[in-house]
Parts: sequence; C-alpha cells; structure tokens
Amino acid sequence: MTRPPLKPTIKTQGAVFLDRDGTIIKEVNYLNRIQDVELLPQAAEAIAKLNQQQIPVILVSNQSGIARGKFSENFVAKTHRHLQEMLNRQGAHLDDFFFCPHHPESGKAPYKKVCACRKPAPGLLYEAAARHHLGLSESYVIGDKLIDVELALRVGGKGLLVETGHGKSEKEKIAKSEIKPTFIATDLYAAVNWILAHRKRET
Ligand SMILES: [Mg+2]
Ligand SMILES: [Zn+2]
Repeated sequence: MTRPPLKPTIKTQGAVFLDRDGTIIKEVNYLNRIQDVELLPQAAEAIAKLNQQQIPVILVSNQSGIARGKFSENFVAKTHRHLQEMLNRQGAHLDDFFFCPHHPESGKAPYKKVCACRKPAPGLLYEAAARHHLGLSESYVIGDKLIDVELALRVGGKGLLVETGHGKSEKEKIAKSEIKPTFIATDLYAAVNWILAHRKRET
C-alpha cells in the first residue's frame, strides 16, 4: 500500500500572461488619460474564452512612463481598474495585474534602476507564479513585442507575437533576432485560439 504524502503537494498550473498596450488595448504611446483606454477588437472575447477554461489570465506590463515622469503608479492602478470594468461588461476578467515602473536610464530614484522586473527580465512572472502557484514552463506570454516573446522563452514557456500594436514592425526584426516566436497571430483572439488548440493536443 502506498502512503499518502505527508504534506499536500500544491499542484501548479499554466497561465496566460498578456502584455497590455498594443495587445489588449490600443497602443497610444505612454497612455496618460483614462479616456484613451480602448479595447482592441475581440480582445474581451479572447480573454473570456480563457476565463471559461479556468486558465489564469494575468497582465504583465512595462510602464516606464512612471520612471519618465509621464504618469504615476496610482494612474496605472486606476487604468487597470478601468480596464477590468470594461472587460467585466463583456463577461471577461483579468486575474491579476503586474507592472514594472522602472527604467534603467530615465528618471530618478526609486524608479531609475536596473531592475529584475522590466520585460524581458522575468521578475513579474516569478512574482505572479509565487502568488498564484503557477508553472511557468506550462505558461504562455502573448504580446506585440519580441521582448514579450523573450520573456516567455526565458522561463521555458511559449511566446506568441501578435500583429496588433507594434507587432508588424517587430515581426520584421525576427529574421535578424535570436528570439523566435512560438506562434505569430494576427491578434489576441487568434493567439488565444492557437493556445486552446495547442493545449488540447498536449493533454
Ligand atoms: Mg505592448
Ligand atoms: Zn522593474
């Protein structure tokens, strides 16, 4: 007879990490007015699909506009509450929000620093994984920049590039880059569909 383990083992699960600007909402270059928050087409539907599968959906964003003095941490928090309300009205929700306020060269302390959380550094993913018991190698990152793809690859996950936001110009850099997206999708909705099909094949 096999004995049950003395300590309950905490089972990890994969998450889908989403970049914010150019991926979920329209890229407007240092968004600093709440009225400029605009969901991209089918972004809410895409997130709702993940919600229905009970896959954690977590926002991870570089907000160096804070270090650069363009807006405050409070403004970013307020923006995220507003974004959540917009998603809720369409039957979708994000499970958590993480952002990096730093920049290595711009601004003043405490924001001017070489940090461990500015993407593609994986600090935000480690923080999210600890808080939500996530397995990063079973996770995906979706974003409109190669740094989002690199973020995923650094933790052994899969990185999807979307062609919204900066995606099209980022795609042109792939040939000369060591960072190769696991998949390139036209938008967030297509990326989510790929992930759901991919997971089905793996299980
Ligand atoms: Mg982006
Ligand atoms: Zn940081």
